[in-house]
Amino acid sequence: MAEPKAVDQLTLAEAKDEIGPLRQQISQWGREYYEQDNPSVEDFVYDRAYQRLVDIEQRFPALVTPDSPTQRVGGQTNGNLPKVSHTIPMLSMGDVFSADELFDFNKRQQDNDQMTEEEPAYNLELKIDGLSLSVVYENGKLIQASTRGNGEIGEDVTKNVQLIKDVPKVLPEPLSLEFRGECYMPKQAFAKLNEKREAAGDPVFANPRNAAAGSLRQLDSRITGRRQLATFMYYVPEWRKLGVTTQDEALQRMRELGFSVNPTNRVVRSKDDIQQYITEYTAKRDQLPYGIDGIVEKVNDLATQDALGATVKVPRWEIAYKFPPEEQATIVHQIEWTVGRTGNVTPTAVMDPVQLAGTTVSRASLHNPDYLQDKDIRIGDTVYLHKAGDIIPEISRVDKTKRPADSQPYRIPTQCPVCGSTLVHLDDEVALRCINPMCPAQIKEGLAHFASRNAMNIDGLGPKIINQLWEKSLIHDFADLYQLSHDQLLTLDKFGEKSATNLLTSIDNSRHNSVERLLFGLGIRHVGAKAAQLLAEHFGSLDAVMTANANEIAAVDNIGPTIGDSVATYFANNEVDALINKLKQVGVNMDYLGQRSAEVAAQAGDSPWNGRRVVLTGTLAKMTRRQATDWLTAHGAKVTGSVSKKTDLLIAGEKAGSKLTKAQKLGITVWDEDKFSREIEEEH
Ligand SMILES: [Zn+2]
Repeated sequence: MAEPKAVDQLTLAEAKDEIGPLRQQISQWGREYYEQDNPSVEDFVYDRAYQRLVDIEQRFPALVTPDSPTQRVGGQTNGNLPKVSHTIPMLSMGDVFSADELFDFNKRQQDNDQMTEEEPAYNLELKIDGLSLSVVYENGKLIQASTRGNGEIGEDVTKNVQLIKDVPKVLPEPLSLEFRGECYMPKQAFAKLNEKREAAGDPVFANPRNAAAGSLRQLDSRITGRRQLATFMYYVPEWRKLGVTTQDEALQRMRELGFSVNPTNRVVRSKDDIQQYITEYTAKRDQLPYGIDGIVEKVNDLATQDALGATVKVPRWEIAYKFPPEEQATIVHQIEWTVGRTGNVTPTAVMDPVQLAGTTVSRASLHNPDYLQDKDIRIGDTVYLHKAGDIIPEISRVDKTKRPADSQPYRIPTQCPVCGSTLVHLDDEVALRCINPMCPAQIKEGLAHFASRNAMNIDGLGPKIINQLWEKSLIHDFADLYQLSHDQLLTLDKFGEKSATNLLTSIDNSRHNSVERLLFGLGIRHVGAKAAQLLAEHFGSLDAVMTANANEIAAVDNIGPTIGDSVATYFANNEVDALINKLKQVGVNMDYLGQRSAEVAAQAGDSPWNGRRVVLTGTLAKMTRRQATDWLTAHGAKVTGSVSKKTDLLIAGEKAGSKLTKAQKLGITVWDEDKFSREIEEEH
């Protein structure tokens, strides 16, 4: 990339030429980042461009226009969620990119008449890589949650935030107050989510922040609920109501109120202490379980914060120090293609090993052919590597100036690297797939899945053993596993008497699994462990699932047409039929052995609890609330949270409160725990 001319050497004409396209570029990146949660460039590329625009406008103020990105607070609403207007605007923060710039900022700030102290106390906090969140409480109850949006108007995400575990739904004090903080996705959850998306052929999230934003700004709260979001709260606009006077006191109060507050904040005064904090967390950054992209410095005294106020765009009392990007250049030697269990064929760049954020990196997933082609990555290219969310190595860009003269665009394979059959794109998927059901790569991956913990749970049957069994032609399908002999296993590398016996025992044990494990283990597209459970529970046996048509399957609660079609198509296959017969012959259980759910029990009509609406309240001594609920639902009762006229029964433990009073008022039957446990015993 050619370095652009330094801003102080630009002529007015050059600045004029540059500024239009630069603004357009920044606006486009801004839209990708804020509205689509899908940035095409790294943060620092955006930051650099933005800083350059600021510099040009500072040098040529006549070129500033009201619609310039520098005159707006970043972020627009996505248009689908209800809007919330912020009573107190949610501003973004100014940022600096070096310690020197930070100290310059402090010097200018200390010249401000509102700064009463020579060397004021600053509260330093980590800048969490997530999205801003506002939560509003009324009389101690969470009543509203919203994103920042454009700073004035955000999106209502109350329902979704109800599903974030570390956000208190009720405070221990009846406060009516707004709290602000950051909603983020922990690094591990991010890595897992992307892994899943990649396996499913869905586009991956560029970093944890985009994953958090994409997960929080869902119209469907269930998706948010599945996505392990977390928060760190850090700001109370109306701090006086909390009875605090400094930022660190405010953080402490929030901790006491039950909020998740990051524990690393530190109050400092001297330049040395600020530098020390920066050095310390630049080094610790990779080890933290959440992503950070810098450090936030706030004037600790809250009255001084208010006195300093804000410019049109950013507060004068806080600033973000952004970490320099961690990047390493290396050369791509090869692009490997691997075939997954579902036939998904993914490219991986193999490069000269480099040290990056604490580990040696020589491979980076290129996700899918589109990704590879968009970045135009070629063999022999010099590329820059970084870690997305500090955890996943990723190629950020290609240095095209170092591209060899004879370089050719990379040709996407048209044939499966393992079985040679023609690769296809299914529907509108970006993923490339091998659809040959006999593809050895897929079968081996499929066997590993079959044996995995949530499927048949065959302990000791990992990918390496499977590979050996396959190479020795001892197994070709799932059923072959059940016909392996002790002697055959002894022919495997490093396999003694004991490991052979152990493996045979775990294979044998898996014959007796309840059928949902088999249903999941078969690896039917879209059928996860949860769907397998629902299907097994509903149909009761594999035979019943196999004879059901797509509509009947889709009609099961929480299943739907995608799974319905997929399951019906799968079992319509003759080879599958043969496989299931073979599994039956080797004695694999085909029935559901678990407890029958409310729905099934109700259909069977064989429980006095059928359809009864039950509410639990107070503390139970002999069982947990969860166990009681499970037992009740398993026997056909409907357990609800609040007492109404429709309630049939209230089970009241110790210290039952308002629910008991209400039930008595409505004349609803009330049982104590003893009565309930006697009933349980009678049922068994
Ligand atoms: Zn193949």
